[in-house]
Formats: sequence, structure tokens, C-alpha cells
Amino acid sequence: MSNGFLPESKFGQNFLIDEDIIGNIIDLCGIEEGDKVLEIGPGLGSLSVFLSDKTSDLTLIEIDKRLASFLEADDKISAAVISEDFLKLKDYGASDIDVVVSNLPYYVMTDIMKKLFAECVNARKMVFMVEKDALARILAPVGTKQYGPLAVFCSLYGDTKVEFDVPRNCFVPAPNTTSSVISLTKDDLILPDGFVKFINRCFAQRRKKLVNNVKEVSGILAQFGLDPQVRAEQIEPHTFYELYNAIIGASV
Ligand code: SAM
Repeated sequence: MSNGFLPESKFGQNFLIDEDIIGNIIDLCGIEEGDKVLEIGPGLGSLSVFLSDKTSDLTLIEIDKRLASFLEADDKISAAVISEDFLKLKDYGASDIDVVVSNLPYYVMTDIMKKLFAECVNARKMVFMVEKDALARILAPVGTKQYGPLAVFCSLYGDTKVEFDVPRNCFVPAPNTTSSVISLTKDDLILPDGFVKFINRCFAQRRKKLVNNVKEVSGILAQFGLDPQVRAEQIEPHTFYELYNAIIGASV
């Protein structure tokens, strides 16, 4: 690359270079004064520079120490830089974050999104670059093969919108597939503590009955009009939410 930086494919490093796309992503974030903004995987800072102009409370989490040092030295970026694997990170003020943005590293896309849904429970907006192929899972309707945890979380979080596609040549190096930018705007509902783990258990063995994956639901399925044979892929997102609340309500 022109700055002599050798990208690490093991970290999913494809750097966005198209200025129009960068501008559109920043606009989608809808950052307001005083917002606490989180960017996962800032890379060389193509988004961070503009995020830094929009807020004085920006946190960047980057796994690659070389990139973290590069970002810290960049005087166009004013941010707290955390050089860690986001998936292992505990204290980053998650519940105070208003806006999350990430050109996601595709090898850990699902895990990063799940962690954000579990922890950044008050964020009103999330904007992600994902592999176009992942949209089928993100938007999957109940009862389809692609329906799983990701579709449940996105649906409960609020309004998920596919904004635009991003061709391979907008990145250096070019990824193998076309990408898409999605925006998620939060509804009033807040996912309760432990909900993400609960959903992962529900779908742990998709072909099994729900009761075999999560024994706690056995006494309450009828209450929600669900057959004892029901499988996770047949349950609407909001019903999962109600089931979970019934279980935690019964256990306190
Ligand atoms: N945001 C930059 C851009 O748009 O040009 C870079 C995006 S690149 C697709 C993904 C970035 O995520 C890389 O900088 C990579 O080092 C970083 N990354 C990969 N895995 C990560 C993890 N587990 N935690 C934090 N950052 C990670």
C-alpha cells in the first residue's frame, strides 16, 4: 500500500478507499453533539478521521497493534484507541454508547454483531459494512433455513435497512465478494441481560426440538400457543423475547 503498510488477511483487513462511500457511511451514523461513538476495526482510520470531526467522544477498538499505533500518531484523529481483540474486551463503557459503526472484519462478523447486541444495549444506531452474502441471514424471515440468532437480534433491535452495495474495487486490497452497508435504528425494546446467550442455546442444534436445547421452556410453551415439538427456527423474534422474560421472571 502507498503508506508501506502490509495488510494482514488473518484480520480481515480490506481498507475502504472510496470517499463517496466513506461520506455516505458517516451520514448514516446520524451523530449528534455529545454522542459517544464506537468504531470496531478502524484500520487505517478512513472512517475514524470523519467520525472524529463529528464527536469529541470517540473510541476505536483495533486488534492490530501496528494499526493502533498508526491511529494514535495521526493528528487528524482525536479518539481513545484500544488495541485489543474486541471479542475479548470487557470494559469499554458499552452501555453508554450511542452510535456504533464498523466496516466489519468478515471472519468474525457474526460474533462481533452478537457481542454488540448483548452489550451496547442503549445504542440508538448501528451502521455496518457486511458481506453482501450475509444479508440473507440478517434479514431471514422466520421458518426459513437462514433464520437464526442474527435475524432474531436484528429484528428485535429495531429497523434494519439495507442502504447500498459496495463494489470490491472500493477497497485495498479488494475483498473476494461484494459488500453491503446496513443501518439499524433502535426501537424502544432493550434486550435483557443474558438474552443473547439464551438465543444461542435455542439454536444450538437447529434440528432438535426447542425443549431439547433449552429445558427451561418446557413448562411455558403452551402459554405462548407453541407446540411442545416446536423448533427454534419456527419461533418469531418477539416470542423469543417473551419466552425469555417468562423464564427469568419465574426464576426470581
Ligand atoms: N475501518 C477500516 C476501513 O474501513 O478501511 C478497516 C476495515 S477492515 C475490513 C477490518 C478491521 O478490523 C481491520 O483493521 C482489522 O485489523 C480489524 N479487526 C479484525 N478483527 C478484529 C477484532 N477481533 N477486534 C478488533 N478489530 C479487529
